[in-house]
Amino acid sequence: MPETTDQQKFVYDFTEGNKDLKDLLGGKGANLAEMTNLGLPVPPGFTITTEACKVYLESGTEPVALRDEVSAHLDALEKQMGKKLGQADDPLLVSVRSGAKFSMPGMMDTVLNIGLSDDSVAGLAAQAGSERFAWDSYRRLIQMFGKTVLGVDGELFEEALDEAKRAKGVTTDVELDAADLQRLVEEFKGIVAKETGRDFPQEPREQMDLAVRAVFDSWNGDRAKLYRRQERIPGDLGTAVNICSMVFGNLGPDSGTGVAFTRDPASGHQGVYGDYLQNAQGEDVVAGIRNTVPLADLERIDKASYDQLMQIMETLETHYKDLCDIEFTIERGKLWMLQTRIGKRTAGAAFRIATQLVDQGLIDEAEALQRVTGGQLAQLMFPRFDDRACGREGSELLGRGIAASPGAAVGKAVFDSYTAVKWSRSGEKVILIRRETNPDDLDGMIASEGILTSRGGKTSHAAVVARGMGKTCVCGAEELEVDTKRRRMTAPGGIVIEEGEVVSIDGSTGKVYLGEVPVVPSPVVEYFEGRMQADAADADELVQAVHRMMSYADGGRRLQVRANADNAEDAARARRFGAQGIGLCRTEHMFLGERREMVERLILADTEAERDEALGALLPLQKADFVELFEAMDGLPVTVRLLDPPLHEFLPDITELSVRVALAEARREPHENELRLLQAVHKLHEQNPMLGLRGVRLGLVIPGLFAMQVRAIAEAAAERATAGGDPRAEIMIPLVGTVQELEIVREEAERVIAEVEQATGTDLGLTLGTMIELPRAALTAGQIAEAAEFFSFGTNDLTQTVWGFSRDDVEASFFTAYLEKGIFGVSPFETIDRDGVGSLVRSAVKAGRATRPDLKLGVCGEHGGDPESVHFFHEVGLDYVSCSPFRIPVARLEAGRAAALGNGGSDSR
Ligand code: PEP
Ligand code: MG
Repeated sequence: MPETTDQQKFVYDFTEGNKDLKDLLGGKGANLAEMTNLGLPVPPGFTITTEACKVYLESGTEPVALRDEVSAHLDALEKQMGKKLGQADDPLLVSVRSGAKFSMPGMMDTVLNIGLSDDSVAGLAAQAGSERFAWDSYRRLIQMFGKTVLGVDGELFEEALDEAKRAKGVTTDVELDAADLQRLVEEFKGIVAKETGRDFPQEPREQMDLAVRAVFDSWNGDRAKLYRRQERIPGDLGTAVNICSMVFGNLGPDSGTGVAFTRDPASGHQGVYGDYLQNAQGEDVVAGIRNTVPLADLERIDKASYDQLMQIMETLETHYKDLCDIEFTIERGKLWMLQTRIGKRTAGAAFRIATQLVDQGLIDEAEALQRVTGGQLAQLMFPRFDDRACGREGSELLGRGIAASPGAAVGKAVFDSYTAVKWSRSGEKVILIRRETNPDDLDGMIASEGILTSRGGKTSHAAVVARGMGKTCVCGAEELEVDTKRRRMTAPGGIVIEEGEVVSIDGSTGKVYLGEVPVVPSPVVEYFEGRMQADAADADELVQAVHRMMSYADGGRRLQVRANADNAEDAARARRFGAQGIGLCRTEHMFLGERREMVERLILADTEAERDEALGALLPLQKADFVELFEAMDGLPVTVRLLDPPLHEFLPDITELSVRVALAEARREPHENELRLLQAVHKLHEQNPMLGLRGVRLGLVIPGLFAMQVRAIAEAAAERATAGGDPRAEIMIPLVGTVQELEIVREEAERVIAEVEQATGTDLGLTLGTMIELPRAALTAGQIAEAAEFFSFGTNDLTQTVWGFSRDDVEASFFTAYLEKGIFGVSPFETIDRDGVGSLVRSAVKAGRATRPDLKLGVCGEHGGDPESVHFFHEVGLDYVSCSPFRIPVARLEAGRAAALGNGGSDSR
């Protein structure tokens, strides 16, 4: 339980905080405080800390001191505003808004107009000079409070509102007058009483306290938990609560509310981006319910406010040195800032903005690297739609919306989140099509390839959430008529798209197509492939930005990046992508296909002569494999791992073979070989093959196998050296658990290498090392280092053996349940488990280097290409990470980012 001390302060006035206090005040609170201190027009208020929330979540009650502290801050606020909360003749009204450290659309957001009651509604009407406004504010309070604080089904209020409009024969809320709204208030109060068994609270302070508690509770709401899991946000941070005096955007045409970005969050270009809604309150804009006008139109509507806003936006961008997104309200011609934060952006915009800010002299290269992530780079490497195929036969253009979040997504049309989740669970790719989305659609959005909406702008819920998730999104495609009840969409010309029909959406252009549009490689991949030059005059702006960020990363990183590759083609690609060697060449792939038969002969060999013959047949083939690889990687290190998997993987399936033998017996055909093979398969059968006869154990019990592989490596290296090449082979022994295993293999390998060197007159400079992929190896790394010139951490097997998880089974069987229960936020096979597996890596690094200071250290498990894990490997002082060729750019970037952050690295050696 978080400690509470007498001195602990749970409430901060906006004038007391600053932008660096996000842990305590949440993002919203910290930034409101920062803006207040910058002298920007922020309505006064205060923030209840995340610490208060944590106490509440853990103990079930608010900290004892909170009530008095809130009272003191409320008093101060009332004094400043010259009126009391809910005061009958002139009520102070406040908003109560949640605000965690990271913005979380899954949480309760806001309750506005707290303080209004039967008593004060008339006072508000008198002060505002509008009965209509006062009743509208009151009905909004009951509606929001009822839904988010008291848990009443929001549809009930919506239906009552629709009914009121229908009864009056009007279509918009604005056409309802004061009397209509007053009746609606009574009706809403009736709904609350009926649904909750209590009256809508009339006491202003009670309203406020209940709303604060609801914000605390929303931290553990289902949607919030789902969002945290998706975004890997820790579950114990808690949320802050902001209490802010109300300003009104719905006081008439000289009022309004809007959102703005200091740059285009899709392209990164500077300009005036955002939406404005006249005579409205904030929620109307974000929900995308009413149509907004572009922010630029505000210049015409209210030039003074517009000019002031532009100036504030410049101040904020220069101050935060980044793209800011802003919520503002204009109350009768006076501009108020309600929120700012570092704006979410697309992957492409992140790269462009980072380089633009460097060019503007606002940030340096190291800072620029913190503005992008490997995950974003990976997104940019996804394929795009083929322009030539778009709109052609089989993929007609249905319409166009706003390009809200880039990417190319193809899938079956679904019209509700439930179906999206259901279909995607059964392996279908789906596109979620809605009129607009709301937080209830979160799981459907996660399950979909992309999201298409017919309403709402770049700042609508769909757009903001999709961008955050890196999902393709087209929103506001107004020419498409979405009918969720009948599960269909109608495009211009009467084309009807039923649920289940395939559509393709292009989040970079906003175009929507019927059918499947073929995809082409991204320009970023073309650049890495060397088919597009970043310095060409017509080079894509994005490619230029990526190129620059990659050079910043390469210039600063300490970790080398190698590839896991076992053929010349992958090796060549890896090299083009910037690999500095091969960290893992798995040789098992070289024993498949036609060669499987030779492996069978090896396994079946009864005599030394038969075995030598089988190995002799494999030798030239293996050698040729290595020659190709060393040639592709000339001048760079190539770590070749000797055979690792259990031998039965090379033998036919036991059932299939039994059938073959049985059939041959029945037909009285000769089947001696098959029978021997079947016997061998039975003999090699293991209950837990991953813990059985594999890796170094094979080398020790199958005479000649490792010697053949070592000879092939040595002869291939000699051939390359004689041909003028520069082969740099490293021989790696898998699954070592004790130094004795390694010593025996090492002795034999050295003998073979010496023979080859003598025979060819070359000095091959081959090194020999081991994988550290068993807990025992990690625990005895100091001893193992005596016989190894390098370690490569096999974090796949190490994770498997440290956790006791069979990696081929668990992810599909119970990981979803583990993730749902929050046992881990991400699979330990994906991101290194720092505390468990990571701690073994850390101690093995230390012990290994203590024995052999120049021990070379790398990692070749899947984690080598995982952004977060790369940072860990940097911190523990490895020399390189090795990953699949396509992940190399990501690993390079993350290695550069890790170095720029300056955590440990070589210093922690
Ligand atoms: C490992 O275990 O991390 C590794 C790279 O080996 P493999 O995945 O081939 O078992
Ligand atoms: Mg392994």
